[in-house]
Amino acid sequence: MRIKNLRGKSVRIVVAISLIAVVITQLWSQNIPNLKDIEAADLSILSGRIIVLDPGHGGIDSGAQGNGFLEKDITLALAIKIGKILENNGATVIFTRDSDIDYYTRGKGGKRKDLLKRVEIINNSGAEAFVSIHTNAIRGKEWFGAEVYYNPKLAENQELGETMQQSLKNFSPGNKRQSRKDLNILVLKNSNLPGVLVEAGFLTNSHEANLLADDGYQTQMAEHIVKALAYHFCHSVAR
Ligand SMILES: [Zn+2]
Repeated sequence: MRIKNLRGKSVRIVVAISLIAVVITQLWSQNIPNLKDIEAADLSILSGRIIVLDPGHGGIDSGAQGNGFLEKDITLALAIKIGKILENNGATVIFTRDSDIDYYTRGKGGKRKDLLKRVEIINNSGAEAFVSIHTNAIRGKEWFGAEVYYNPKLAENQELGETMQQSLKNFSPGNKRQSRKDLNILVLKNSNLPGVLVEAGFLTNSHEANLLADDGYQTQMAEHIVKALAYHFCHSVAR
């Protein structure tokens, strides 16, 4: 009898905990749009908007390397594809660079000056949003997946970051990464308008590196980055 009671009690506790978990999961997921809704975003909302694209690195700064690919080449190729789709939908695109250049200056702090020049372009753009594009590299070859960073100083940054991450959940397939808050990334910290930084994938993973260099994969990824922007403009609480 005693054992039976105890069993009944533990079943009730398990049920209660499960219900709480379901409620928390639902509340949490309400904030993050689902992929189907992002993919269905109306791109006409992009018309007349100004957007800055910041392809990471360039010129003397190759960025990360892996499997024979350079970050600066992939980020530029991706940015140009994103820019074309935005322009085809009536947006004006400002690039921090649209060729293989850098903003390094002689002497100390060259890298910082390069980044601050990009911030200056972003802050003087009159744009509504910016996207910085990078690729990752790490010691372990098994790591993969696009990852979106944002600075939580603006609520819109988090919204756009979560939407962007969700839009990139199949880049590459099996990507389990979550968007990440970051207080230190210079471009995110110093820019005055909403924006995110997309680490498009890992050059150190040979499968993903080859995808990142693939024209078709780049186009699909560019489309999903644009869809995330369109969804954000449609749904952001700031508008
Ligand atoms: Zn980078």
